[in-house]
Amino acid sequence: MPVPKAELHLHIEGTLEPGLAFALAARNGVDLPWTDTDALREAYRFQDLQSFLNLYYALMTVLRTERDFEDLADAYLARAAAQGVRHAEIFFDPQAHTARGVGMDTVVEGLWRALGRSQERHGVSTRLIMCFLRDESAESALATLDAARPHLDRITGVGLDSAEVGHPPVKFRAVYEAAAALGLRRVAHAGEEGPPEYITEALDVLGVERVDHGLRCVEDPALVARLVRDRIPLTLCPLSNVRLRAVDTLADHPLPAMLDAGLLCTVNSDDPAYFGGYAGDTFDAVRDTLGLGPERLRELARNSFLAAFLDDEEDRRSRYLAEVEAHVFP
Ligand SMILES: [Zn+2]
Repeated sequence: MPVPKAELHLHIEGTLEPGLAFALAARNGVDLPWTDTDALREAYRFQDLQSFLNLYYALMTVLRTERDFEDLADAYLARAAAQGVRHAEIFFDPQAHTARGVGMDTVVEGLWRALGRSQERHGVSTRLIMCFLRDESAESALATLDAARPHLDRITGVGLDSAEVGHPPVKFRAVYEAAAALGLRRVAHAGEEGPPEYITEALDVLGVERVDHGLRCVEDPALVARLVRDRIPLTLCPLSNVRLRAVDTLADHPLPAMLDAGLLCTVNSDDPAYFGGYAGDTFDAVRDTLGLGPERLRELARNSFLAAFLDDEEDRRSRYLAEVEAHVFP
């Protein structure tokens, strides 16, 4: 039995497996520059965040219709359920689609076709979080929030992702203020490749409740103390950190030290089709490579539900937490 858990850092476009990419390319008449899935797999040797992003954006051009987004999300939810995910908070990148002529309506309604029936079909509750691309302009982010207004009943919060260095959180102050005024929850990627100051800025300027990655907080003891004191969750993605070279090997990952420091860490899969593992695979990897024992694994599972946006459904959170406490770790 896999550990019951919530997935809080998952880009739906990052779940596009080579097989589905080729199927959608055929369905939509899109020519991909790779001859087959083996050739495509060869392209998955990344040097850094940017080399991954180049492939990520190239491949998502196969996503065109509501049905494509539905199939993508449904395939992810089936995989997640099989790996013990009970609740998934799913990021999507509307600008990556609207920039190539695929409308916000197509993206949100397509995803919702899968998310709206996920509870009954897969036993997974869901939230949708709209991310702004930080390497695009602040104006583009504001226009994106505006385009999302008719869909806000489907969208729980906003996030900030893509190429981090050189795009500090402060650039997005206005759109985060507007999102807060609309009652949206706020998260942001910070401290993945960018410096610890970006984490502080995401908290102080953007008002985020949760930090995505946050890995580089370990370089600033005062920041660590603040994150511990204020119980700010960090959505770590250990397999992603290895693939994108934020750490040399998984054995070098600071997760055990971060837990020892009292940080509210969660582990997540980020872009699992690209980084070699879904939520359950990630739990297995940190258990096997970092030597985390049953109580640490239980803490990670518990943290995932404590950090989830389930405030309006405290019953559900309680049920999930009870499941974690009842889980027998081998
Ligand atoms: Zn991410």
